[in-house]
Amino acid sequence: MASTPHQNPTDPSDLTALKGHIPLLGLTGGIGSGKTTVSNLLGRLGAGVIDTDLIAHQITAPGGIAIPLIQEQFGAKFIDSAGALNRGKMRALVFTNPESRKALEQITHPLIRQETTRQALKLSKSGKPYLVFVVPLLIESGNWQGILDHIAVVDCPEDVQIARVMERSGLTKQDVEKILAAQASRAKRISQADTVLHNDRDLAKLEAETQVLHQKLIGFKTNQSTSS
Ligand code: ATP
Repeated sequence: MASTPHQNPTDPSDLTALKGHIPLLGLTGGIGSGKTTVSNLLGRLGAGVIDTDLIAHQITAPGGIAIPLIQEQFGAKFIDSAGALNRGKMRALVFTNPESRKALEQITHPLIRQETTRQALKLSKSGKPYLVFVVPLLIESGNWQGILDHIAVVDCPEDVQIARVMERSGLTKQDVEKILAAQASRAKRISQADTVLHNDRDLAKLEAETQVLHQKLIGFKTNQSTSS
């Protein structure tokens, strides 16, 4: 499910034990900007990747730890025949009902936080040179900046975002525009970035910029800023 406006499921305060021991990179960007593409590249280059969006999906997939709690709170009609969260039905409910959104977040957010921390601690012990936290609403949540050593923003023009998301998800142009309008503006995101990855052209260009970012993080000594 694409990130929606009020989801700020991650609270990095649990990660303070890692600060200064391993470089911590935050990776963000608007919907469809290319975060997953970049994090996959960084993962292939050897980084330890924790994707909070993926975690949110996993806990609501068949057998996911949030499923019994969601069923208890909202009823079986919100669970599909495969045992996953019925995302369409839930999206329709929470878009019009703030109380339901809150109830859903009270179930999912602690579980996402717990799993984010678990994966980060595990990866930090496995010899990875640095950790990447993929957080769609990193800028909006406002509580990651203190813990991260470096923030990278994947940026691309809104018309490109809209086209990519429509092609991949089947959402309408209006659906994507609604999500875009509720996310931080490009200018705000860029103003908080240490590195901006420009994903406005082909993948080769994005890969080259991602390589530069990787080298920067590899060269980073903990307890010092990577900003440049
Ligand atoms: P979301 O916010 O929805 O999770 P995202 O920021 O993780 O999206 P990606 O999934 O990496 O973005 O990219 C969105 C879509 O655009 C994908 O289908 C991806 O393959 C495609 N894409 C990303 N970058 C490029 C590019 N430079 N050229 C062509 N297609 C691209």
